[in-house]
Amino acid sequence: MQQYIDQLNEAQRAPVIQKDGAMIVIAGAGSGKTRVLTVRIANLMYQGVDAFNILALTFTNKAAREMKKRIADIVGNNEAKNLWMGTFHSVFAKILRIESEKLGYPSNFTIYDSQDSARLIGQIIKEMQLDKDVYKPKQILGRISQYKNSLITVRAYFNNPELQEADAMSKKPRLGDIYNNYVERCFKAGAMDFDDLLLKTNELLNRFPDVLAKYQDRFRYILVDEYQDTNHSQYLIVKALSDRFQNICVVGDDAQSIYAFRGANINNILNFQKDYEGVKMYRLEQNYRSSKNIVEAANNVIDKNKTKLDKIVWTSNDDGPKIKVHRSITDGEEGRFVASTIFETKMQHQLMNSHFAILYRTNAQSRAMEDALRKRDIPYRIYGGLSFYQRKEIKDVLAYLRLVINPKDEEALVRVINYPARGIGDTTVEKLTVAANHYKRSIFEVMEHIDKIDLKLNSGTKTKLQDFVTMIKSFQVINENQDAFVLTDHVTKKTGLVQELKKDGTPEGIARIENIEELLNGIKDFTEGQKEVDGARGSLAEFLEDVALATDLDKDTGDDDRVALMTIHLAKGLEFPHVFIVGMEEDLFPSAMSMNTRSELEEERRLFYVALTRAEHQAYLTYAQSRYRWGKLVDSEPSRFIEEINAEYLEYMNPMDTGYRYKPTMDLDIFGDVDKSKLRLAKPTAGTPPEYITKNEPISSVNIRRLKPVNSTASSPKVNLIDNNLTVGNIVMHERFGKGEIVGLEGVGADKKAEIRFDVGGLKKLLLRFAKLNVI
Ligand code: ATP
Ligand code: MG
Repeated sequence: MQQYIDQLNEAQRAPVIQKDGAMIVIAGAGSGKTRVLTVRIANLMYQGVDAFNILALTFTNKAAREMKKRIADIVGNNEAKNLWMGTFHSVFAKILRIESEKLGYPSNFTIYDSQDSARLIGQIIKEMQLDKDVYKPKQILGRISQYKNSLITVRAYFNNPELQEADAMSKKPRLGDIYNNYVERCFKAGAMDFDDLLLKTNELLNRFPDVLAKYQDRFRYILVDEYQDTNHSQYLIVKALSDRFQNICVVGDDAQSIYAFRGANINNILNFQKDYEGVKMYRLEQNYRSSKNIVEAANNVIDKNKTKLDKIVWTSNDDGPKIKVHRSITDGEEGRFVASTIFETKMQHQLMNSHFAILYRTNAQSRAMEDALRKRDIPYRIYGGLSFYQRKEIKDVLAYLRLVINPKDEEALVRVINYPARGIGDTTVEKLTVAANHYKRSIFEVMEHIDKIDLKLNSGTKTKLQDFVTMIKSFQVINENQDAFVLTDHVTKKTGLVQELKKDGTPEGIARIENIEELLNGIKDFTEGQKEVDGARGSLAEFLEDVALATDLDKDTGDDDRVALMTIHLAKGLEFPHVFIVGMEEDLFPSAMSMNTRSELEEERRLFYVALTRAEHQAYLTYAQSRYRWGKLVDSEPSRFIEEINAEYLEYMNPMDTGYRYKPTMDLDIFGDVDKSKLRLAKPTAGTPPEYITKNEPISSVNIRRLKPVNSTASSPKVNLIDNNLTVGNIVMHERFGKGEIVGLEGVGADKKAEIRFDVGGLKKLLLRFAKLNVI
């Protein structure tokens, strides 16, 4: 053990050696916080603490597995096996399974994913005859999620006039009723959504002092990684469980708090010292992960934030190469640049694919990257986005399996009751739903008693419903005697799912069958693994729980050597030698939706800090001058975050940009018979500022942009043909507002404005510098 402690620096050693009490480690990226947790756990065990008494909460289950592996290397596998480790959701789902009946839930409760939840809310909105354009299911779900994570139950909501007023103000006076219906329907279906896993744990610990005492006594040592991103609900769970022994160690970095939009509360880290007695605060300052250039650049970035704890981060690592900045014309070209750079770097330095990561702000950006990587035959793996278990055919099979375990599961039932088609139409399902609501029973129960309830169904329909019930019950019998693989194999055949896809015959249909086969492989793997562990059967219930809580990061790819593609949010805590941060453009990163307030912008900046600090050796910042967004080609400017890094840490890869910062000037609309498809990038001539033209589709205009020397105060030349041509009375077309007539002009030069009466939309004043107008 001592050898592992010796490998730590002095600052890291202190929180490892302090055995008891409350402690917080606040430190910048790459300073060894996660490593401190790992060694601390091993050391606790070395000092005689039973693994059974230690609870460690991590950001992903994969992180927990890796930590466990490292601990096993130190203290031995048998010891490490009993540690309670995982995400909040997975650990407390396990506890809820044990205790659920106290809360009125079956122990086989289903876990609804966000798609299930959104569909159910959509259904409720429809039943309540509300306007789904006002009550958007996903938005409502987000709001309900916020309430749950702040522990605002339905009752608390209705006791709080301010919340109700706020929802009424945002034109959603019925939100409380939707919330109420949603909670009732989930309960009736024996289902919990993700937020319930935390909310119900809180309820359990609050309402049942004996249960609280039991788990307080069990978890004598509690450790939390990434504490800056815990929400209120998680905070309360940790607080309650650690209250008796107060042996709690949390680590985090306020500069990496990036989940405020989901209710993470940075005050949890700031107030920690008030929550426990005699809190020891430790700070780590040495970064072991990244080169000096990257560490310094990251410091530059985070310095721009006003709300932060002052921290020092330094490294004794080499300077390393400068951060490379690359501009391309389109996102397609950006993808090609990334792919070819990976290809060449790999060849030159004998690297693996897994040494590279491509990080982006939004999932949609992965497509251009994927296309380019595929063309180069570079294997990659996408984390997030549509994961395997979210694919339709997989969700269909899983829905049948969920029904076997919990026939009350309404989302699963609605999904497959008529898929493959068996003549049970929407009207029938609606009648069943109404009856189920009326009798306060599940739809399945109504179906079981369909003979005794008068729903005005014809006898053919009744028989079909009964056949469905019988089929599910026959699966249940198999489930009692066979393992999950045998059952699933039977289900895919007996339900007609596979035949349905075979009928399809298209390449997509075949790919779907392959996916189902892949699912069966996965289940086989799981059941065999289970049998090895304890000679158990490899139960379906356990498999489903694994699936429900699996995030993409959790999937072990074995020895797969692939380039990693993911959003920055998912990259938290990870590290890679070479990191590409792509789409470094205004409105994309920082996101257009997060620039309304200083605090939103600061969260975007923290996100950039997280992205940059993932890189060990080389970071690339790439941007495109135009990209397709929402089906339209839009022009973009480089992200302000690039400029926030001191130029000495940057290397501009496009020769034109050396010494120049890209500065867009203004739009220049071209009239007359110009063949726009012939317009090409204008090559810079020596000594003059480079100038280039980009195509701008589908608007019939082109943009001329000029680069301005970095330190020059001279403004770029201003040209605007429209400006010269416009007079009052002109009829113009505007890209968004359509046709209109100029009724007034005012101002001069860059400030010149036109007052235009649009056919639709009325009078508007537009700054000509920005307005994309064509005279017609
Ligand atoms: P993040 O904030 O990104 O989660 P972190 O503070 O958790 O970072 P770690 O992931 O624990 O940092 O450590 C970063 C890297 O530095 C890891 O590769 C780790 O093994 C290494 N490291 C940490 N401490 C030391 C040390 N004392 N000596 C050598 N390497 C170290
Ligand atoms: Mg970490």
